[in-house]
Amino acid sequence: MRIGPFVSLLLILALGGTYQSHASDVGHASDLALVGARIYLSTSEAPIESGTVVVHDGRILSVGPTAKVKVLRGAKVIDCKGLVVTAGLWNSHIHILTPGLVHADRLSVEETTEQLQEMLTRWGFTTVFDIASVLKNDNLIRRRIASGEVKGPRILTVGEPFWVKTPIYVQKFLKDNDIHIAEVHSAAEARERVRQQIRDGADGIKIFANSVEYKEILTMPLDLAKAIVEEAHKAGKPVFAHVSNNEGISVAIESGVDVLAHTTPTDSAWSPSFAKSLVDAHVALTPTLTLWDAESKKANASQDDIDKGMGRAAAQMEAFVRAGGQVLFGTDVGYIQKFDTSEELEWMSRGGMSFQQILASLTTNPAQRFGYSAHSGRIAKGMDGDLVVLSVDPAKDITAFARVRYTIRGGQVIYAANG
Ligand SMILES: [Zn+2]
Repeated sequence: MRIGPFVSLLLILALGGTYQSHASDVGHASDLALVGARIYLSTSEAPIESGTVVVHDGRILSVGPTAKVKVLRGAKVIDCKGLVVTAGLWNSHIHILTPGLVHADRLSVEETTEQLQEMLTRWGFTTVFDIASVLKNDNLIRRRIASGEVKGPRILTVGEPFWVKTPIYVQKFLKDNDIHIAEVHSAAEARERVRQQIRDGADGIKIFANSVEYKEILTMPLDLAKAIVEEAHKAGKPVFAHVSNNEGISVAIESGVDVLAHTTPTDSAWSPSFAKSLVDAHVALTPTLTLWDAESKKANASQDDIDKGMGRAAAQMEAFVRAGGQVLFGTDVGYIQKFDTSEELEWMSRGGMSFQQILASLTTNPAQRFGYSAHSGRIAKGMDGDLVVLSVDPAKDITAFARVRYTIRGGQVIYAANG
């Protein structure tokens, strides 16, 4: 039985004078204390060398040097000596489309937790933005997580994407999995579908500003893109754009899209003035650098060509960062099957991003961009009890963000590494 606050109080009253402690000192069975860690509170504050974080009722109750933080009696204590704690991480470009998750109605509770761990929580993600999948399936997974039967991250989703023609590389996948995603042709039809998806629970909208077809790349007509973006913004929802070339980027910018889902390494380099035009349009970017590696390998490209392509993608990201652009960590995982985030982190670092900038892309930037910064992205009193415990300091080795010991959401351990 889980002992709630009311029952705890009754027990204390029943025990009468034999129980000396004040009720306010008594924690819940669900309280959590991470003790003795190096703690990065945010991207702008110096870390606490030996600190303690206490989570109570799903939120951070206190944080500070271990000697000064009181741990509630009865709290679950995790010794974090030699470990590093940051706010829970965000992945702002994922897809709930893996063979293991796309038909969640066929999964047991344990299997669902396992699949979410494999892809997301074991890499430290406490919040993810799914940017193209099947809304009904996402809602089922979200209900199971909300009810507590499945351990998983906070999942935000756009549901089904908007495209003028189904991209060639997903046609077989959709057919094999019996998924139908309509092509949109008119602004009126698109507006109605945006409203419907938002009513059905979508947290954002995704357009394919480009659709890759056999021997050509289509670009969504600007008036169609504008109608979709306007309708989403009326409901206060962000819009993501898949782009494959710089013409697609123009449509994204002119229609008022909020997040570019990729760089465009097969098109020309992003000059400083082009990068500045993106920043002036207030778009954020999920670099998805690992995607280009995975796609090139699928196409049997030579290692030399892969290296050149990766270099071009990283250089575009670098131009964007130098212009002051907001990067949101995002890997396209779920479309690609590489779950390990080390490669993405390494490429972001090679593309000139500092530890602070990469930490921001994983925490404060997405929280700000999607309207969650009042309670997510930093470690401070009152913030969500979403935390990640790392084995190694990512300030010394950026791939340490992938070396996760515990992932904690709302004070609950949703992933623990073995040993
Ligand atoms: Zn994607």
